[in-house]
Amino acid sequence: MEDANKAGNGAALAALLSDMEEVERRLKQSPIMPVEELRAHIREWRRLALTLTRQSLQGAGWQLLLGNIGLLNSSLDLKETLQIAMNSLFEITQAEHCCLVLFDEEGNAEVEIACSRDRGSIEASELEFSHTVVQDVMRRGQVVLTTNAQLDPRFSGHDSIVGYQLRSILCVPLQVRDRVIGALYLDNRMRNGAFSPSDALLLGAFADQAAIAIENARLFEAERKQRELAEALGKAAAVVNSTLDLEQVLDNILEQVERVVPGNNFNIMLLEDGIARTVRWRGYREQPEQAHIVNLRMPVTEFPYLQEMVKTGKPVVVPHTLADPLWIPAEGREWRLSYVAAPLRIADRVVGFLNVTGTTPGQFKAPDGERLEVFAHYAATALENARLYQELRRHAGELASTVSRLQELDRLKNEFLQTVSHELRTPVAVIQGYLSLLESSDLGELRPEQREAVTIISRRVRALTNLVRDVTLILEIQSRSFQREPFVLGELIQAIVNEYVPAVERAGLTLSLEMPPSPTAVVGSTYYLRRAFEHLLENAIKFTPAGGSVRVRLSRQGEWVRVQVSDTGIGIAPEQRARIFERFYQVDGSATRQYGGMGLGLAVVKEVVEAHGGTLSVESEVGKGSIFTVSLPVLNEGGNPGRATATS
Ligand code: ADP
Repeated sequence: MEDANKAGNGAALAALLSDMEEVERRLKQSPIMPVEELRAHIREWRRLALTLTRQSLQGAGWQLLLGNIGLLNSSLDLKETLQIAMNSLFEITQAEHCCLVLFDEEGNAEVEIACSRDRGSIEASELEFSHTVVQDVMRRGQVVLTTNAQLDPRFSGHDSIVGYQLRSILCVPLQVRDRVIGALYLDNRMRNGAFSPSDALLLGAFADQAAIAIENARLFEAERKQRELAEALGKAAAVVNSTLDLEQVLDNILEQVERVVPGNNFNIMLLEDGIARTVRWRGYREQPEQAHIVNLRMPVTEFPYLQEMVKTGKPVVVPHTLADPLWIPAEGREWRLSYVAAPLRIADRVVGFLNVTGTTPGQFKAPDGERLEVFAHYAATALENARLYQELRRHAGELASTVSRLQELDRLKNEFLQTVSHELRTPVAVIQGYLSLLESSDLGELRPEQREAVTIISRRVRALTNLVRDVTLILEIQSRSFQREPFVLGELIQAIVNEYVPAVERAGLTLSLEMPPSPTAVVGSTYYLRRAFEHLLENAIKFTPAGGSVRVRLSRQGEWVRVQVSDTGIGIAPEQRARIFERFYQVDGSATRQYGGMGLGLAVVKEVVEAHGGTLSVESEVGKGSIFTVSLPVLNEGGNPGRATATS
């Protein structure tokens, strides 16, 4: 074993000397050597020196400590492991106190672990150590070894050196990739020269391992925090978006904001007309804070940080409110020592703020603002969705009541029409009866002018009868509760056409009917369909000047049967075509109009055809004529109307 050590020592020494010679040779060739290369050599020298020291100088204690430092990285509780390791330094060295210091981003030193030879692990506050030495190590990243600090010109006269009567001090940096993250510090106030250069070398080796372990633990912790935060944000976003109830959304936002940025007080403000108003709050003690926060109204222009958020749309972090010139202090609320807030934004508009306050200075840092900003984005979206939904519901409610009012009016109108047409039917029938008596001369011979008057009255009464009948028909057919029966459509069409032969002749027109030989059955009301086709024929005759022709064609189109009534009459202009099916619409509705009629005919046709599951369309050319096409579903063999569905 001894021999093996000696052999190992010899090899390490040889390697050390040869590497040094190599560097010397290089520097002779060229005095400039890349820093990285030089550093690599220095690392190698330290390693070799460590091997030499470890084997020749300190024996078991250091060997054990350095052998075990590999455990640091696998340990679950790093601080505890480091503590044990550091306590063992008292056995190896002559230290009275030792501590591990970490530096934060601003360079402030924080004692993480403190031990004393007499008392073992102690509270950081109980430790008396030299800040000057630690700061020096941090600044320069180099080992400090002083055999008597009282006489060392670098440190003598400093408060802690004098006050604590420190003599021997050994302090080595904790370094990660050239960054000093902390220091290991040992002292002895009784003895001069308690620490040797080999102690410094070995403590440096320990510090290197400790630094890596601490950094790994920090990275791991940062990653864990990041992951937890992403999860918290995800959950918070899901919760705030889980409802469309505005009040509930606000409750949820308040509940979740704490998960995103842990603080002491939270509130939500909504912004309207330049005034920020608190609508939710949490964490405020009973009095007087409660009274302050309830319905607090803050004009944005009077508060620089609110104004800034409105302007930039970005979050703000105030680490120390009382030391901040832009912070507007409020009497009695000096406990708000730190503040972070993010605007609630919808597109480019700020509609409110999420505010979090803390009772400790420096409680919030830039990442808190960033997290709050992300959460505020979700919160604002949820608020906007809820607002839109509320608006939509209000509109829908208004629409529903308008519709039901209109439906009621429509019902009243139909009822009224029904009553009127019913009441008209009897007197019109009586008038018609007396007219027949007059026309037949049963009440005595009429003079020619009397006969002419009776003819005019008779024509007008017929129009009135038709009007009453059509109004009644439309009302009945709309209820869809009429009798339906199967019948052969061709037979009905034939009968109607026959009836109109005299009228066609009187008008000086020709009339033709085309039908396929095989009969086609439909199901429906012959009474209503008859009336519909009569209207189409009457219109064709009425709007076609003498010499023209009227044609009726019946044809089968798969599961549909088509009836076309065409004429060579005056035609209908394109812009009128959509309107002619409206009730009481006439292309020429003037008092001096040439053609009779009430404008109800096509409305009847449309209602009847649609009530039978059919369609009605028109093609027309002004001055050339019109074609009205009715399509009805065919009755199939099973006795049902075919599969065809009505399309328009
Ligand atoms: P009306 O009792 O006036 O005939 P309709 O509802 O039957 O009422 O027709 C509405 C309007 O459509 C008519 O006033 C007329 O202007 C136009 N119209 C209907 N059929 C024809 C046709 N075959 N040729 C030209 N115009 C027509």
